[in-house]
Amino acid sequence: MTSSQTPGFATLQVHAGTEPDPATGARQVPIYQSTAYVFKDAAHAARLFNLEEVGYIYSRLTNPTVGALQNRIAALEGGAGAVCCSSGHAAQIMALFPLMGPGLNVVASTRLYGGTVQQFSNTIRKFGWSAKFVDFEDKAALKAAIDDNTRAVFCESIANPGGYVTDLRAVADIADAAGVPLIVDNTSATPYLCRPIEHGATLVVHSTTKYLTGNGTVTGGAIVDSGKFDWSNGKFPSLADPEPAYHGIKFHEALGAMAFTFYGIAVGLRDLGMTMNPQGAHYTLMGIETLSLRMDKHVANAVTVANWLEKHPNVAKVTYAGLKSSPYYERAKALCPKGAGALFTITLKGGYDACVKLVDSLKLLSHVANLGDARSLIIHPASTTHRQLTPAQQSAAGAAPDLVRLSIGIEDPADIIADLEQALAAAHA
Ligand SMILES: *Cc1c(COP(=O)(O)O)cnc(C)c1O
Repeated sequence: MTSSQTPGFATLQVHAGTEPDPATGARQVPIYQSTAYVFKDAAHAARLFNLEEVGYIYSRLTNPTVGALQNRIAALEGGAGAVCCSSGHAAQIMALFPLMGPGLNVVASTRLYGGTVQQFSNTIRKFGWSAKFVDFEDKAALKAAIDDNTRAVFCESIANPGGYVTDLRAVADIADAAGVPLIVDNTSATPYLCRPIEHGATLVVHSTTKYLTGNGTVTGGAIVDSGKFDWSNGKFPSLADPEPAYHGIKFHEALGAMAFTFYGIAVGLRDLGMTMNPQGAHYTLMGIETLSLRMDKHVANAVTVANWLEKHPNVAKVTYAGLKSSPYYERAKALCPKGAGALFTITLKGGYDACVKLVDSLKLLSHVANLGDARSLIIHPASTTHRQLTPAQQSAAGAAPDLVRLSIGIEDPADIIADLEQALAAAHA
């Protein structure tokens, strides 16, 4: 990309972060299947280990194929830098790791992916971290929950499973006033539909497993940093104070907008080891090339299917923010002008039993614990992804026992509707 014009999204998704391979001219990004990289000489090795020069040492930290994906995702989100890692859940730990410490907390939305509620409720306690869950529609409660030990505010842009759209600007302003970063999980929206950094987010996390890869082939995650947060405000010693492992370097002072990204690689990946492999990065790079095309089709199909479902006599409710009946319709239009994603829930009049029968009667739609695949998918959260949550947590997360979650794929919409029609009939027979 050499022209002076700022490239658009469709151009960036194909070109950003990559160039013809300098060694061979290969047009597509090679899979650099190598664990280590030969140093030019001992002085070069020393400079790399001192972070005085950027380069490749060992693939737990950096790899050229993974690096290309990092640069592409950073460009699509409008961030300063990105770190890729082994899964979306790894990305969440990697995002919190530089910020948190024993006794510190993250204030999180109640409306989150079930696995995230689990990770934040139980697992992070083993690090001495904790999470406070708040309904982010209640701005006073959100403000009140942030205390002196809070180090981050966490939400999803379009929240899984119910398609709830977070008021990102209002939440970002509250986090800002408290001197803590807003972390937005942008998995369900993708940067094509929503760019959280433009609405005030500091960090964006992804499960690249979903739409970015787009066909259910590999797990992966990414953390994008806006490069705009002042890590020297006294709350973030990992980023602002001297780092003993790197001759006392102060990441914020020395690396500026790239401080969080470099810390994520030089300390996070080095010591936590949640590394993305180059094969996985390759699949995701391939997927991202068609992101805008797929998302337009996902959205168009979701609108068609959701409108049809809303009129079905056995369906009590459809939560899709792309429906005019949704309380989040206007907010979705402002935040995600190209569409409200392709993920929503439907409540069945027949309750839990009808949900189970529906899932078992579908032929085209697959019953899987995944979303963001080219194929249409369905799951009954209460008996699967949200099974470990209490009934109150299930309801707060938008995963009550009488609803199923749909991830609408890119098939012909008439075929998706025909399959749902026969399965809804079977579920209420
Ligand atoms: C899937 C998902 C995750 C977790 O990602 P993995 O790649 O499965 O670890 C986190 N957040 C959201 C919104 C997801 O859909």
